[in-house]
Amino acid sequence: MRRVPLGAVLMAVDVERVRDLVAQLLLAVGEDPGRDGLQATPLRVAKMCEELFSGIDEDPDRHLTVTFAAEHDEMVVVRDIPFASLCEHHLVPFVGKAHVAYIPGVEGRITGLSKMARLVESYARRLQVQERLTTQVADAMQRVLEPRGVLVVVEAEHLCMAMRGVRKPGTTTITSAVRGQFRDDHRTRAEAMQFVTGH
Ligand code: ZN
Repeated sequence: MRRVPLGAVLMAVDVERVRDLVAQLLLAVGEDPGRDGLQATPLRVAKMCEELFSGIDEDPDRHLTVTFAAEHDEMVVVRDIPFASLCEHHLVPFVGKAHVAYIPGVEGRITGLSKMARLVESYARRLQVQERLTTQVADAMQRVLEPRGVLVVVEAEHLCMAMRGVRKPGTTTITSAVRGQFRDDHRTRAEAMQFVTGH
C-alpha cells in the first residue's frame, strides 16, 4: 500500500493557549511569571511546543513513499540516527539513537538513507514511550517497504530517570522490534544485531 503524501504539516498547537497555561504553571509551582527572566518564557515554550509536537499530525509513512528499485537483496543497516522525544508519562525528554536494519523485499525496493532519519524524527516529535517509538518505526518500514525483514534498536537516556524518582543519570534503556526474517532466523538477527550495536 502506498499512501498519498500529505501536502503540508498541520499546526495543531494552540500557541496562545499554551502560553497562558505555562504562565499558570509557573504561578502554580510558586514562581513569579512577571520576573525578568521569565517574562518571555511562556511564549517561548509555546513556540517550542510547535516543534516538539510537529509529528502529531504527520503521516510518517510519507517519508518512505519515495523508493528506488535496486538490485540489492542484502541487509541495509543505518546506525546512530539521533532523536529527541518526550516521555508521555512525565513530559520530559528522552534522547538517544535509533538503528534500523532491513533486508529489501523480492522486488528489491529500498528507501533513501535520510528517509529513515525522517521517519524516526516524525515518530519522535510527539508524546512517546520508547517501546512504542521502536515498534512504530519497525511497523512503518514493514508496511511501506514490504521488506523481508526489519530490525529496529533504540537506545535512549530518559531524563525522567535521571532527574527524578530513581535518579540514575547515564542509564541507557534499549528496546528492539524485529519483523519478518529477523524474527524467524536467529542467525540473520544475530548478524544484524552485531552491525547495529557494533559488538
Ligand atoms: Zn518518564
